[in-house]
Amino acid sequence: MKTLKSYVCGGWHEADGGFATLYNPSTEEAIAQASSQGVDFGAALAYARERGGSALRELDFLARGELLKNMSKALYEKRDELIALSLENTGTTRRDAKFDLDGATGTLHYYGALASALGPNKVIVDGEGQKLGRSARFWGEHVRVPLRGAAVLINAFNFPAWGFAEKAAAAILAGMPVIIKPATSTAMVTERCIEILVEADVVPDGVMSLICGSAGDLLSRLDSQDVLAFTGSADTALKLKSGDNLLAQCTRVNVEADSLNSAVLAGDVEPSSETWGLFLNDVFREITQKSGQKCTAVRRIFIPAEHADTIQAELAQRMGDVVVGNPTDPSVTMGPLASDAQLADAIEGTKSLAAESKIVHGHGERVDGAGAEAGKGYFFAPTLLRNDDTGADDLVHRREVFGPVATLLPYDGSAEKAAELVAMGGGSLVASYYSDSDDNAATFLAAAGPFSGRIYLGSEKMAEQAPGSGVALPQSLHGGPGRAGGGEELGGLRALNLYTQRVALQGSRKMLQNLTGNTSEE
Ligand code: NAP
Repeated sequence: MKTLKSYVCGGWHEADGGFATLYNPSTEEAIAQASSQGVDFGAALAYARERGGSALRELDFLARGELLKNMSKALYEKRDELIALSLENTGTTRRDAKFDLDGATGTLHYYGALASALGPNKVIVDGEGQKLGRSARFWGEHVRVPLRGAAVLINAFNFPAWGFAEKAAAAILAGMPVIIKPATSTAMVTERCIEILVEADVVPDGVMSLICGSAGDLLSRLDSQDVLAFTGSADTALKLKSGDNLLAQCTRVNVEADSLNSAVLAGDVEPSSETWGLFLNDVFREITQKSGQKCTAVRRIFIPAEHADTIQAELAQRMGDVVVGNPTDPSVTMGPLASDAQLADAIEGTKSLAAESKIVHGHGERVDGAGAEAGKGYFFAPTLLRNDDTGADDLVHRREVFGPVATLLPYDGSAEKAAELVAMGGGSLVASYYSDSDDNAATFLAAAGPFSGRIYLGSEKMAEQAPGSGVALPQSLHGGPGRAGGGEELGGLRALNLYTQRVALQGSRKMLQNLTGNTSEE
């Protein structure tokens, strides 16, 4: 059985006890163990801050961009090996493994290329400068400079590659070293990614550290120059961000948490139209991709009551065609859930939802998987529920079942009602609204916008090009208000805000221009 190591203080650390076991979710075979026992978290943090931070701040944005592109290239070269590892440790199909790995390399490359927008500088100019005195000699500008600490990146189990890469890309471009802590159950993929990057020698010493296993006392050592970027459940987020030390130090914390994402079919969409087809394709993919273990997966499906039966039948038919099983079997189209804990949670969660909604496809229990031994593997078939009379207190607006489970919720077809229902989720990462009416879209935006990190507007005009609502594109913000954690990641250069301090500069215009290279007029 493989023992996962941590990478701290410029070297690999192997623990001698306190191990958690990692399993192949299709066979339940123990495949690795992980522990951070013996890691000196104080030394690891100091090494990242001092060695890694100074090395990065020596580089201008263009050089940091090259670094990110080299990271992307090194990982891409080992794509096939990482896909195979992902099948073994996370249970994803090849297609779902590519989604994670290509998301990782694509985002690293995107931020590498974005560096050209910042030029050969080390300071980001934030907005236009302006005259502060009677004449333009007394001038004001805003700039952003990297924090002096380390960025601790704690990730969920579902995206072991993309999860760390999207955070690391923004932190490194901004000029902050990173300490990566993957979820233990799927840490094999992340550990191998870091090993590949170390072997490729593309990242300066101290810029990248890895903790496999528990985070120990790391968070109680962070100060106001450090950052915690967290992705995971709302319960863990609450515990971590309300820790005494983080509160006392005012350490920056960004949270990406649970989300009851919705897909809405507007009343103007005609059956069998292109937008109707797009809605069905997107919703089906967003329920089943990665076995529903996606923070952006669709959990609530709002459909005009008059079309409810037709849509239910369409989705049930597609779900019935899904072959659940071991992804090494070529017939399989959806893998298992990632762990026994996730399987137990999906079963329990579906049962809770079924107390208020009716199961109309599937049964919310474990199933045997194709290509897998009977009774083994964390397999769970796609499950569809329906609730014709939902209210704000219903569990469907509060309980995220992190698996291939979604609920159909018929409504009157109006944009106002759709927004009201979406808002019952208490803040989500993404709401998708399928409509060919600009008026409906505008009404929906005004009322659902405050409750959504992203609104995906599905229409016939974009049907051919759009990848679906579940992809966290680096150009667009990823995060959401309320239940979704209140955080913001990605969104192009906006992602660097978390890792930089905004400084209001006041002084002579000439001096400020020399400092920033910003010669734009008022
Ligand atoms: P989780 O149990 O909350 O764990 C998330 C991470 O926190 C893991 O790395 C975990 O490490 C770590 N952790 C737990 N307790 C900790 C502590 N006391 N100190 C430091 N770290 C600690 O979540 P999960 O089961 O991995 O992921 C599923 C959840 O993540 C879902 O609710 C999903 O909605 C959410 N998610 C959100 C997004 C988003 O972008 N909004 C993306 C993906 C997933 P261990 O594994 O070692 O316990």
